[in-house]
Amino acid sequence: MIDLRSDTVTRPTPEMRRAMAEAEVGDDVFGEDPTLRTLEEETARLLGKERALFVPSGHMANQLAVYCSARSGEEVWAHATSHVLGNEQGASSVLARVLPRTFDSPDAVPDDALLERWATGTDDVHRARPALLCLENTFTGRAVPLAGQRRAAALARAHGLRTHLDGARLWNAAAALGAAPAEVAEGFDTVSVCFSKGLGAPVGSALAGDADTIDRARRARKLLGGGMRQAGIIAAGALYALRHHLDRLTDDHARAARLAKGITSTTGLSAESRTNMVLLSTAPGKAPGHASAFADQGVRAFAIAPDLIRFVVHLEIGDADIDTAIAGIGAAVMTRSQGPAAR
Ligand SMILES: *Cc1c(COP(=O)(O)O)cnc(C)c1O
Repeated sequence: MIDLRSDTVTRPTPEMRRAMAEAEVGDDVFGEDPTLRTLEEETARLLGKERALFVPSGHMANQLAVYCSARSGEEVWAHATSHVLGNEQGASSVLARVLPRTFDSPDAVPDDALLERWATGTDDVHRARPALLCLENTFTGRAVPLAGQRRAAALARAHGLRTHLDGARLWNAAAALGAAPAEVAEGFDTVSVCFSKGLGAPVGSALAGDADTIDRARRARKLLGGGMRQAGIIAAGALYALRHHLDRLTDDHARAARLAKGITSTTGLSAESRTNMVLLSTAPGKAPGHASAFADQGVRAFAIAPDLIRFVVHLEIGDADIDTAIAGIGAAVMTRSQGPAAR
């Protein structure tokens, strides 16, 4: 089975497991885990921020960012399909009790006119106070160009908002844009990153930002029950990933590009690669059926919409797997098209 459902399905490599087994550990609730400390320092440095905080999930990193940057009843602005608002069970309305305000924009970034409009008249007694703008990079696999995202962040900050970047796949964005991770995070008060997606660690994410915000996030992590003891065991996996798996992300991107081309040429369906993802468009309603036909051919993928299937390339996928996947997908579409109009 070739599992292309997500880059979260990777298992730690033997070298990573060795690093985890041999990690020096201590009680991190007392701030005494040396491996965790090292991971937080290296992460902060890479992202160009003062501090970083290790957390169990990207979800927690995003929610800590919201919790530390917006108060109850304040507005949080994010894309209508953003992870922070749409894929975290509405946690920001439960925990920080903020008012979500969503924009729709094909390129993931709100335009200046909309930001200006939302940022004016905020002293009106009827209005909720705007507190935070959240952007996302990569956005559904797309590496968002830095100029636009920085302009939006700067405009928001000029109007007194704080800014957060959901960088669960920031590493992929940096690789695709030919930028340093710190350049992608530039202009944001806080940034969240995942170690357990493209980098291949078994567990963990981080929130990075200025010292004061991260100190508050550390307290809030404990409030949520996220204090961990000898977490150096898992931090060692993340640290290994950070040190050894950043440079190979361009291989995933090249394989995703080859997968998209191969799918299009064998099936005639339109497939687009974006960093480590491939998005395959089908006729309305056909995506779930296609995805299960792919699974019958040994290729697992997610139908993320009635007309869209997502494949994600990751470190357990080699060149030969791409060839096998293309053949399997081609065979599945061929079989289905023997019935009426599978497209
Ligand atoms: C995966 C993801 C998250 C959260 O990750 P978890 O670790 O699964 O909680 C947040 N934002 C984006 C854009 C993601 O892709």
